[in-house]
Amino acid sequence: MTSPIASPTVVSRLSEPHSGPVPFSVEFFPPKDAPAEERLWRAVRIFERLRPAFVSLTYGAGGGTRDRTVRIAGELARETTLTTVAHLTAVNHSLDELRAMVGSYADQGITNVLALRGDPPGNPMGEWVKHPEGVAYAEELVRLVGELGDFQVGVASFPEGHHRSPTLDEDTRFLLGKLRAGAEYSITQMFFDVEDYFRLRDRVVAADPEQGAKPIIPGIMPITSLASVRRMLELSGSKLPADVDARLTAAAGNDEEANREAIRAVGIDLATEMSERLIAEGAPCLHFCSLNFARATTEVLDRLGMNVLVP
Ligand SMILES: Cc1cc2nc3c(=O)[nH]c(=O)nc-3n(C[C@H](O)[C@H](O)[C@H](O)COP(=O)(O)OP(=O)(O)OC[C@H]3O[C@@H](n4cnc5c(N)ncnc54)[C@H](O)[C@@H]3O)c2cc1C
Repeated sequence: MTSPIASPTVVSRLSEPHSGPVPFSVEFFPPKDAPAEERLWRAVRIFERLRPAFVSLTYGAGGGTRDRTVRIAGELARETTLTTVAHLTAVNHSLDELRAMVGSYADQGITNVLALRGDPPGNPMGEWVKHPEGVAYAEELVRLVGELGDFQVGVASFPEGHHRSPTLDEDTRFLLGKLRAGAEYSITQMFFDVEDYFRLRDRVVAADPEQGAKPIIPGIMPITSLASVRRMLELSGSKLPADVDARLTAAAGNDEEANREAIRAVGIDLATEMSERLIAEGAPCLHFCSLNFARATTEVLDRLGMNVLVP
């Protein structure tokens, strides 16, 4: 493995000067064809001028996007000014394959990795079966990546608790395990009740003040389609709070397709309101799930006074 080229860490980027009251970051996914890739790059170039603290690139369920994730993460790291985080999941990978993946990231100049266990491919709610020569939990992946080089590792956290965790206390214990194993920050699953985020933060701080000092970066999804957010919630085991559901359902009326713009407007309002609360309560960064589009996120940033081009 070549030594990763030193690039800023996520945590160091959070304390660098930024244009708004807090830094922001953006999640992309590896596109599946050339037109989708062009769309991704249009979004990347728009965000690049707004200087996010970092961008992250997901890793397809089951490792199906492995080659694209490595290639595009490398292009983001080399051909843009963006600090790039590559996601890595343990699904269907032996330890040797995981080591090779980390080596490929290092070869691409990636030094920031989000270590995830992943879900069973095809059915995220199905039974999790670890690869016979792989790892069972993200905590082990955090250790593995840490042993392989000078990487800064982040992990996932869950404001509502992970759907497989028996209790919120157990969920907190598992998150602390990942942080104690060497993860320096976490990014949360998207959520729509800010109180869930504050409660997660309180739980972690109360259980272990040292680990609780590590950034918990809230994941925000500006809703632009009711059908797609419902699908994503189903896959992640999260829920829409009743008041949020009521606002979106009212906007949808009896014709979701015809009222797409009204739903979108509510989605932007919701993301803006959540962001305002998160900023007021000291969130370290706002992490936007962009779905490879810039428009909805930049509208929210605009409303927050954070849509500022940096020369
Ligand atoms: C910010 C973010 C980014 C994501 N990116 C991707 C991506 O790019 N690709 C992808 O496929 N998925 C992604 N996911 C989804 C993620 O893979 C799933 O949520 C997965 O179900 C859990 O992953 P984890 O890393 O939290 O696993 P873990 O921390 O290993 O937890 C998995 C389950 O095991 C339990 N557990 C943990 N440790 C122990 C233990 N020691 N003993 C017993 N039980 C334990 C936990 O409570 C949890 O129920 C992402 C999620 C988030 C929040």
